[in-house]
This record gives sequence, C-alpha cells and structure tokens, in this order.
Amino acid sequence: MSDKHYDVIIIGGGPAGLTAGLYASRAKLETLLVERMMMGGQVMTTTKVENYPGFPGGIDGPDLMMRFQEHCQQFGLEVTYGEVENLLDHGAEKEIVVDGQALFGKTVIITTGAEPRKLGVPGEAEFTGRGVSYCATCDGAFFRDVPVALIGGGDTAAEEALFLARFASKVYLVHRRDELRATKILQDRLFAEPKIELVWNSVVMRAEGNASGLKAVELKDSPSGEKRSLPVEGMFVAIGVTPKAHFLADILKLDPEGYILTDGECRTSIPGVFAAGDVRKKILKQIATAVGDGAIAAIMAEKYLMDQ
Ligand code: NAP
Repeated sequence: MSDKHYDVIIIGGGPAGLTAGLYASRAKLETLLVERMMMGGQVMTTTKVENYPGFPGGIDGPDLMMRFQEHCQQFGLEVTYGEVENLLDHGAEKEIVVDGQALFGKTVIITTGAEPRKLGVPGEAEFTGRGVSYCATCDGAFFRDVPVALIGGGDTAAEEALFLARFASKVYLVHRRDELRATKILQDRLFAEPKIELVWNSVVMRAEGNASGLKAVELKDSPSGEKRSLPVEGMFVAIGVTPKAHFLADILKLDPEGYILTDGECRTSIPGVFAAGDVRKKILKQIATAVGDGAIAAIMAEKYLMDQ
C-alpha cells in the first residue's frame, strides 16, 4: 500500500465494505479495503443466516462472508489490515491515518459497522471473559451443562438464546419489558424450546462472582422494585449495538447516537466521503440492506470521480 494514491478507500470489511469493494474493483477503480481485525464483520459471529436471499435452508455466517471475500478476490480487490485512526479532508483528496501511516484516496467509503452495546453495570467489565460475553456463537460451547442468562429482547437475543440452549443446562432470557422485540418466527422458536425460560420485566443490576468467575446476576423486577439473585455461570449480553464512528465525530455529521448521517445515496456531510451499512443512520440493519448500501456507495463514488 506504501505511498500509493487510490480512487476509493473502503474502511471496514463487513458485508457493506466487501460489496463496495466488489463493485469498485469490478469497475476497475484503484481500490483499497482497510480492515481492522477480521474480515466479515458482525456476520462472523452469526450461526445461521436464514434471511439472505439465494440460500434456501440458510448459510453459516462465516461461510457467507468467505464467499463475499472470494468474490472480491476475483476482481483483484486490494486489502490491508490496520486500525484507521483519523480521516482528513483535503478537498480533492482525503487522507486516512492507519496505524500512524497516511494513505490517500479521492473518495472514502466508511463501512465500519457497529459493536455490541454494554450494560454498564457493576461486575460486567470485571467478569468479561470469565462468564460475561457479548457473543454466544463464539463462547457458548464453554458453558456446557451449566445455567446461563441471556440479556435482551431483540432478534440477536432470540437467536443467541436458541444457540445457547444447545449447550447450557438452562437459558434464562432476561428482558426489561413484558414483550419481545424479536420477530414472530424467532419468538415461536423460543417459546417452543423447553430449556429457555423467559424472565420478564427484569433489569440487570450487577454481575456477581468470585475468583473462579461469574456465579450470579442480580435482577430487579421493574414494577415491584424487588431484587433477586439468579444463579448462572454465564451472562450473554445482546442489547443492541453502537456504531463504530467515534473517530469521525470531529469531521462528519453524526446523529446523537453516533450513527453517520447520510442522504439516501450514502453521501455524508463531506463530498467524496460515503457511508454504508450499520454505521449509517437508517431504518433497517440487515445483511441485505448493508449489501444494498455498499453497492450504492461504490456507484456514487464512481459517479463522484467522473464528475471531478
Ligand atoms: P435490537 O433490535 O435493538 O434489540 C435490542 C434489545 O435489547 C431490545 O429488546 C431492547 O429492549 C434491549 N435493550 C436495549 N438496551 C438495553 C439495556 N440497557 N438493558 C436491557 N435491555 C436493553 O438489537 P439486536 O437484537 O442486536 O438487532 C439489531 C438489528 O439487527 C435489528 O434490526 C435486528 O432485526 C437485526 N438482526 C436480524 C437478525 C435476523 O434477521 N435473523 C438477527 C440478528 C439481528 P426494548 O425492546 O425494551 O427496547
């Protein structure tokens, strides 16, 4: 990558970034994709993807992302690994700083995605990696024949609870309300799984344990205020995500939650800088919509280059 100047630099290697990479490299634009750690993004922690078209019966998240990567390689997408620390706008050229090194692109597409939200309760940080986890797919198998709690009420929580039921002796699905946000098809599966017990109207107050790891989660019943200790050895947190755009706060317009604001064609507040996928403020965060965003962002970047 050295001191090369690119037509398009894509930051992030999830579904949106890889789709943008596919479109831009197939359009023969000089394209570099910068990934922080592991290609594939959040889909890498998903067991079965059932709602991405073209795969009846579903496909494992990592398998799907491997196909995305192979598809990009077919068109010669250049990839490098490193943490993007900054984005500077020099007008016709944008500079990104990757692990202290400057790289230049005429356009930049940000597809940094989102990361799991934390509960922010006492004991959560202390027991992370010793009972507290944000990825059931990654860590579920460590919790064979022991009780675990899964915190959340959305699609991720439902899918992860079902996954954990394969290993754990019992899965308590702890939700702060009396109604799940998860889609009906997932709710039906949850209710049909005998190992899963719904714990309604309950807020996590703290994670408790000792030197050997997590031993319980303290819950507060929201209507009564009554507290109780739920004995579990694992606490999986699936309460949504936060966008990975903090390093852009001084340069791009973000919404109060930190999502990048764009128009319908993925243009950000800086001409030549686009955002796609979960890091962009939008109504539906799915692989299918990330892919759509990635395609739009790459085509808009190409159009921007032609207009210069
Ligand atoms: P989500 O839909 O935002 O759900 C987050 C859940 O966590 C909600 O039930 C919320 O409760 C709860 N919550 C939030 N903050 C909390 C806190 N501080 N304490 C306790 N509970 C809290 O997030 P997600 O499930 O990660 O899904 C994100 C997006 O990905 C969604 O659009 C979802 O449809 C999509 N997704 C789709 C699939 C699929 O289609 N197969 C799979 C996974 C994710 P409230 O309900 O009370 O707000």
